[in-house]
Amino acid sequence: MSISTVIKKYWFYALDVVLPCRCLVCGQSLLPPRKNEYNMCRCCQEKIVILKGKRCIKCSMPLISEVEICTRCREREFHFEENYSICEYRGIIKELIYFYKFKAKRTLAVLFAKLLYNYLSLKKQNLLVIPIPSTRSNIRKRGWDHIKEIAFVLHNRYRVPVLYCLKREGKLTQKGLNSKDRFTNILGKVTCTHPQKLAGIREVVLLDDIFTTGATASECARVLLGNGIKKVSVLTIALD
Ligand SMILES: [Zn+2]
Ligand SMILES: [Zn+2]
Repeated sequence: MSISTVIKKYWFYALDVVLPCRCLVCGQSLLPPRKNEYNMCRCCQEKIVILKGKRCIKCSMPLISEVEICTRCREREFHFEENYSICEYRGIIKELIYFYKFKAKRTLAVLFAKLLYNYLSLKKQNLLVIPIPSTRSNIRKRGWDHIKEIAFVLHNRYRVPVLYCLKREGKLTQKGLNSKDRFTNILGKVTCTHPQKLAGIREVVLLDDIFTTGATASECARVLLGNGIKKVSVLTIALD
């Protein structure tokens, strides 16, 4: 990667380090040494609840009974093996994802990458991460790709292998659709842009921010399986 690309990617992180700032959640002033790269006070960081305990082997939903699959997953079929979500989509993590995606608090990519890496580092092998592509209209609206940004930090800071090889066709969005329509709507709308780069790779991890119905992840997995990958799992920040 050229120096100019790195500067372009990191300039806003650098600005946040130099300029005085406040916690983006509670507004508390963050003067050194409390200042940090996420722009969050320690108290707000400690409110992030990591999902623990027994969970559905398919979607990560916390379970109270002894069954292994939640009621929702008993009725649906995915092309991926399992989704692993770090947190539930509520409380502070919901707020943070909102700030990140809709208020352009891009320094949060560093925090999300750290949470995801804490899980990835427990894996025996250094699995290849493939970001789930955002719709082109969303990227145009925001001016940046929120998943690509997290993948960039995962690769540059933690040396996680990342491959951008999936593309979503057209303007379609999954927002506002029910579960069944989401599966129909996305079918055939994901393509693999670099199938040759997947040669010889057995297992990959798809990366996304929120796991909702799993429709987009399942379609991405279907495409990857069609390109010779044997096992696809999904890693997300939050489970909705
Ligand atoms: Zn705070
Ligand atoms: Zn489930």
